[in-house]
Amino acid sequence: MRGGVSLVSLARASAPLLSVPASTSPHVLLSAPRRACVAQVSRDLGRRRAAATVGLRASCPGQCVRGFSTKKVVEKKAPSFAFAFDIDGVLLHVAKPIPGASDALRYLHHHNIPFILLTNGGGKLETERVKDLSEKLGVPLTTDNFVQSHTPFRQLVDDGPESLRDKTVLVTGADAEKCRAIAQAYGFRNVVTPADILHAHPKVFPFDPLLDSVHASSRAGYPSNSNPASGMLKIDAMFVFNDPRDWALDIQIITDLLLSQGGHLGTYSPRNNDASLPNCGWQQDNQPALYFSNADLLWSTGYALPRLGQGAFQAAVAGVWRRITDGHELRRRVIGKPYGETYRFAERVLAAHRHELLRAISHHEPDVLRSVYMVGDNPESDIAGANDFVSEAGTEWCSVLVGTGVWNPAARGGEGVLKGRFKPRAVVRDVREAVAWALEREGFAPGE
Ligand SMILES: [Mg+2]
Repeated sequence: MRGGVSLVSLARASAPLLSVPASTSPHVLLSAPRRACVAQVSRDLGRRRAAATVGLRASCPGQCVRGFSTKKVVEKKAPSFAFAFDIDGVLLHVAKPIPGASDALRYLHHHNIPFILLTNGGGKLETERVKDLSEKLGVPLTTDNFVQSHTPFRQLVDDGPESLRDKTVLVTGADAEKCRAIAQAYGFRNVVTPADILHAHPKVFPFDPLLDSVHASSRAGYPSNSNPASGMLKIDAMFVFNDPRDWALDIQIITDLLLSQGGHLGTYSPRNNDASLPNCGWQQDNQPALYFSNADLLWSTGYALPRLGQGAFQAAVAGVWRRITDGHELRRRVIGKPYGETYRFAERVLAAHRHELLRAISHHEPDVLRSVYMVGDNPESDIAGANDFVSEAGTEWCSVLVGTGVWNPAARGGEGVLKGRFKPRAVVRDVREAVAWALEREGFAPGE
């Protein structure tokens, strides 16, 4: 068993795990036979857990719950499945745990069933976010089973001819200084923010800038890798880590660099709008690549209606680019759900985490990972991504949609609007029911 799980923490989860009868749910989303199955599994698991807890209370009060051990379970047969959970709308809503979320994660933790958290959120260091989530959800988490929108960017500093480790990169996001710190923690050595450029060249933005409010605390020494001719900074790549605050400044600087000669600020490529060149010369002069970490147009907040997210910022940049180039598409790289690159990265992280977890317990190599249950609230990211993804390892990604976030089961059309790549394998009320459904599908029987 990982770590020491105290009896107190188990007892605190007083509601029987996975025991909400589907028939009493206000949103009955499962078919009747499936509902009956899941309810049975929930009741069984609740009874098993209660029995185990009672027995332990009698035998070793105040001790770590060693006997609830999944050691016996795992040595018998390591699970060949795992979970990937979205966070907002699945585990948390407006930073508060969704009922059943803590119970579900604790159950998986106690039974050594591997899982990762896979979110399109970002803007904080992984260590900071994991600590916060562990406290909120009451379950031990580490950066080993956590992937947020910009985590895959860390691969770009790996050794190799394409490595950006020693290049100069522009980063932007909600808090540019935090984004700089994250990028530096990933291994990027030369990180510039739009505020750095604004401070060094105030004329780059002709409007009253947010210099004394948003940007005043966000600037660092200006790098010296300037073009000898122009004296201007050279940027090698641009990253949007999370939702920018100052769209006007960011769009201006990003557009300047997309039009530049080789990424040198203040220059204009002579290839632009040359009809004899591919793509009419646009983005054909070693301009810096532009990366977005999250394509979500909307996200769920405390407001009554979904709010614009980083996907809206991306649409704004692409819209300006189309106007400037007379209709050419912006060439950019987008990660985050639903894109395959993020699922590929997540599967590698999950496989490594699972390997360590199961080896530590069972002392032998675990079997191949056969299935991953992607539990999400957004058909356009969580569900479409899992449905589209083709695992190189042959792992099946099974999509499960919950009704506690972006997707509203009570909205017009209900489940009937979920078609094609947006149609999940299962629609359930919440994360607790999602876990119960998956365990029932896997025939999981702990410790028997
Ligand atoms: Mg979500």
